[in-house]
Amino acid sequence: MAKYTGPVCRQCRREGMKLYLKGERCYTEKCAIDRRAYAPGEHGQYSRRKVSEYGLQLREKQKARRIYGVLEKQFGNYFEKAERQKGITGENLIQFLERRLDNVVYRLGFASSRAEARQLVTHNHYTINGHKANIPSILVKVGDVIQVKEKSLESPKFIELKENIAHKTPPEWLDLDKENMTGRVIALPSKEHLDFPLEEHLIVELYSR
Ligand code: SF4
Repeated sequence: MAKYTGPVCRQCRREGMKLYLKGERCYTEKCAIDRRAYAPGEHGQYSRRKVSEYGLQLREKQKARRIYGVLEKQFGNYFEKAERQKGITGENLIQFLERRLDNVVYRLGFASSRAEARQLVTHNHYTINGHKANIPSILVKVGDVIQVKEKSLESPKFIELKENIAHKTPPEWLDLDKENMTGRVIALPSKEHLDFPLEEHLIVELYSR
């Protein structure tokens, strides 16, 4: 499936919940789902259709895919790797998604949304263990240190982000040094660390059909 290029907020309305795709705007009264909490389209407001089991599984997968901004093929690759890896497939899948560099940068507060994180990573504003890291899909591992580049800290964008992280509490698997805009991976992420509800077993069931 190709990259979605339509209105961003439509994706939240499709999934029936806030996916926090637009950063600060998502916390204001401008949020589209607060104003129109029904599915997009002509019949969205009046639809009472019973959702099939397959429909529920599909929606859960689409929700996760949209939140992390991952394309269909890449999501399928994560699932295959999660299945091959030792342990519980659903938990492995969560780890693959959460360990993406763009997600980590967002969870640390070094970007205001995952979409913005993706862009800032591509524009080369961060390092991992002091090395260049400009690929959003890089998977971080325990012990990695993620840092905003010194030069980037001078830009208005990062000055604003630094002000905002004063109120930020990162998930327990990440350690955040707010003053130096540095984060360290201290454990592997798991379901309880997610910032949205996810029924990952539905995704596993979908791919197991
Ligand atoms: Fe979703 Fe954010 Fe748009 Fe609200 S403002 S509908 S949370 S992307």
